[in-house]
Amino acid sequence: MTGPYEAARPYYQAELAAGVERFLEPRRDTCPWCGSADLSVRLRSSDLVQRKPGRFTLEQCGTCRHIFQNPRLTPAGLDFYYRDFYDGLGRQRMGEIFASNGQSYQGRVEMLRAFTTPKAWLDVGAGHGHFCHTAREIWPGTVFDGLDQGAGISEAERRGWVDRGYQGTFTELADKLASRYDVVSMHHYLEHTREPLDELDTAAKILSTGGYLLLELPDPDFRLGRVLGRWWMPWFQPQHQHMIPLDNLVAALADRGFSPVTVERDAAHQVGADLTLSLVLALLVCAPDPRLPWLATGPTRWRRLRHTAVWAVGRPLMAAAYALDVLLGRVVRRTHRAGNAYRVLARKDG
Ligand SMILES: [Zn+2]
Repeated sequence: MTGPYEAARPYYQAELAAGVERFLEPRRDTCPWCGSADLSVRLRSSDLVQRKPGRFTLEQCGTCRHIFQNPRLTPAGLDFYYRDFYDGLGRQRMGEIFASNGQSYQGRVEMLRAFTTPKAWLDVGAGHGHFCHTAREIWPGTVFDGLDQGAGISEAERRGWVDRGYQGTFTELADKLASRYDVVSMHHYLEHTREPLDELDTAAKILSTGGYLLLELPDPDFRLGRVLGRWWMPWFQPQHQHMIPLDNLVAALADRGFSPVTVERDAAHQVGADLTLSLVLALLVCAPDPRLPWLATGPTRWRRLRHTAVWAVGRPLMAAAYALDVLLGRVVRRTHRAGNAYRVLARKDG
């Protein structure tokens, strides 16, 4: 009997035979945020998580400090690199990762709770619906809908974790969603999009006056991002198309009629996303899952052995790295009032 990894192999090997360079657009010579031509390379990386072949570059604008993938992936390239990550072969593992984020979900709820009791909430980039599932325990009378490009959102609707699951892109579904929500959230979503400013335009369009927009993003200004370089998980190539400094996001919100109500820099910090995930990336590079259908060779005995041995050594090290992350996180948050992520809650003005 053919397993799912083996079944996916002919597709991936055919795509790879055609070359992955075709998945990149021509490099642009201006900043997509402010238009400046003052660009420099910030980081070069391969796909450290899935180990799909390809090379990616993040460039930084010298004028506004925006960081973005350049050259960026084409839509076909995004399909290729997202495939089997949130759905398919990666579905179960992502489900476990989403389920372990309870602390962040609680933090988002607390941030909003001080200002409003939501009536109808749309979570954009809702993944498998885990955040809505947590938040509706706090607000059982609130309608929670989720939107995502992945098939996991339909499953979330079947499970009852969201009232309605929209599968598609936010900008394309905008007309359908207008005037129905008093809260829209985007948690670790904007950095994945091709045109983040269009996403903010859409949020401004569908929210009515007094409505809230809650955003959570990785913070490119966090010091460990510089120290750990491409091993810092939040750079996440090739999925993260944009890394947006907080000031730029706040200014873009103001341009669209939003006033920031609260900003959280240290409270949004995700414990374990720094040293622990750096170690995980190193382990994934040393010993990827030998069954992965995009690897050049199939699961040989040697690859299986190496995978078992490397992860047997790595797992206890992960516990040590996590303990260090807890300590380090406390120190950095206390001394710099910063973290590896930030949250902004903004209200749409009249
Ligand atoms: Zn710029």
